[in-house]
Amino acid sequence: MPKGIYERTEEHNRRLSEVLKGRQFSEESKRKMSESHKGMHHSEETKKKISKNSPQYYKGKFGKNHNTWKGENAHEGSIHIWNIRHYGQADHCELCGKSGNGNGIFFQWANLKNHKYSRDIEDYIQLCNSCHQKMDNGKIDIEMVRELRKQIKYIKIGG
Ligand SMILES: [Zn+2]
Repeated sequence: MPKGIYERTEEHNRRLSEVLKGRQFSEESKRKMSESHKGMHHSEETKKKISKNSPQYYKGKFGKNHNTWKGENAHEGSIHIWNIRHYGQADHCELCGKSGNGNGIFFQWANLKNHKYSRDIEDYIQLCNSCHQKMDNGKIDIEMVRELRKQIKYIKIGG
């Protein structure tokens, strides 16, 4: 776990366990999760996704072959860079608790305001690609994530 980027309060832990209890995983996502836990299936696609989480990706490769989040454009790219500069690279998932890249898992600053990309850290939460995708396509209730976000304090590290 990283130090100095966020604080996890008692309240947050309680909320998180409630959130996790309430999650409905489809059979498909359960299967994917157990596969990723086994550390198998390092497909080319997976490798590509991992490399997208490298800092180089954020330095000007936006708009090419992107499929990590929909509607990405240059403006959104600059916002993500803003997040990383001030609050660090996303390195864990607030929903499922994963941290550490690998097995196709990587972390992103997810926007909680319907992709109205602001420069307000309150509008962002660190999620893994899997939870981010589920939130974006409605499999995880964004209202629940917004509630969870209120329990988290990200600490500015630079800029
Ligand atoms: Zn996650």
